Amino acid sequence: MSQAIKERFYKGVKKHNLRMTKPRKAMVEVLDNKHLTFKEILKGMQDRGYLNVQTVYNTLYFLLDQKVVCESFFNDLKYYELSLTNQNHDANSHIHLIDTVDEGISIKEIYAPEIFEFIKNYDELRKFDIDSIKIVIEGKEK
Ligand SMILES: [Zn+2]
Repeated sequence: MSQAIKERFYKGVKKHNLRMTKPRKAMVEVLDNKHLTFKEILKGMQDRGYLNVQTVYNTLYFLLDQKVVCESFFNDLKYYELSLTNQNHDANSHIHLIDTVDEGISIKEIYAPEIFEFIKNYDELRKFDIDSIKIVIEGKEK
C-alpha cells in the first residue's frame, strides 16, 4: 500500500473507531487495489498464515459491515474490494467497467462524479432519496 493510501485508510479506520486486529490488517493488504472473490481472499489470507476459513469469513463480514470493504456482482460472481481508500467510489456508489477478455474478466473503474450528479438530478429521481448508485458496464475493449 502506498504511504498516502495507508494514511487515508487509517484515518478512515480511526473515524469509524475500528480496532484493526492482525487478521483485519492482513485482509486490507490482500484486498489493496484489487477486486477479489472470496476464494481469492481466502488464498491470500492462507498465504499469510490465516488458515481458518471461519476466521477469514468473520473478518470479511466485519469489514463489510463497517463499510471498509464493499461487494459487487460481476459475471454472476461476488467480488470484494476496499471502499475506504478508493477514490473512484465509496461503498455505495461506483461505476465498474467489465472487460470480458478471453480468459475470465478484467475489472476497471471509472472516476466520473458527474454521472452520479446527472442521475441524482434526473427529473424523476429528484424526490427520491438515493442510497446507492451502482453501474456495471460490460463489453470488450475496441
Ligand atoms: Zn471497484
